[in-house]
Amino acid sequence: MSFSSKLIDWYQSNKRDLPWRARKDPYAIWLSEIILQQTRIEQGLKYYEAFIETYPTVFDLAKAEEENVLKLWQGLGYYSRARNLHHTAQHIVNNHKGIFPNTHSGLLNLKGVGDYTASAISSICFEEPQAVVDGNVYRVLARVFGIKTPINSSAGAKEFKKLAQKLIDEKHPGEFNQALMEFGSTHCKPQNPFCEDCIFNSACVAFNNGLVHTLPVKTSKTKVRNRYFNYLVLLSEDEKTILKKEPEMVSGEISINFR
Ligand code: SF4
Repeated sequence: MSFSSKLIDWYQSNKRDLPWRARKDPYAIWLSEIILQQTRIEQGLKYYEAFIETYPTVFDLAKAEEENVLKLWQGLGYYSRARNLHHTAQHIVNNHKGIFPNTHSGLLNLKGVGDYTASAISSICFEEPQAVVDGNVYRVLARVFGIKTPINSSAGAKEFKKLAQKLIDEKHPGEFNQALMEFGSTHCKPQNPFCEDCIFNSACVAFNNGLVHTLPVKTSKTKVRNRYFNYLVLLSEDEKTILKKEPEMVSGEISINFR
């Protein structure tokens, strides 16, 4: 049985029941992917539900006031994601009649959409065989195949993408991508993976060579420095936040305490 068949079989029996998995429309998948960037599923779930309920279609999101989008995003951080989300919804409505591009290369033209998100949307919604590589995928592939190339190097990024692309199930690329990420997230976890009860343990290089806790390899070339920020939150007499819009500010996190 191939790597992908084993993995997809595992996924069918073990996947979590998440609301965006019941849908294949690019709006829902795009929304979930943008929300889940740098966010745990447990935290992102309620934001996804709030956005889908408030803005059920890309047209609803496009015509929303930016302040309302930011307010719904409150607590998720990285507010540039919310601004990109809103901007992209307007772009899709104004320039694409509300229809998302249906190819990986077309999706890459959207603001805030990189290779990871374009691969996720194109494989899940349009069955295009584009491998998704995130932290979970790096970990599973590094362990199963015993790859020691640092995952935060450009050589590593190329090597892992190439391997994932070689392994992908061309007939079910969306299922394969979701299975690999889910397997890394819930089974082959960073700490205490379930090796004794694993579909890959007879072949897994890390498990059979005592390397589970040393793979994947990450070089620590980032210099850590302390940075200090001061925030001033102005409240009116009835405890309402006074909010001033900064239309030119597109990057950096803002802490806004909406009441
Ligand atoms: S045997 Fe352990 S390290 Fe290898 S894939 Fe399974 S859970 Fe991951």
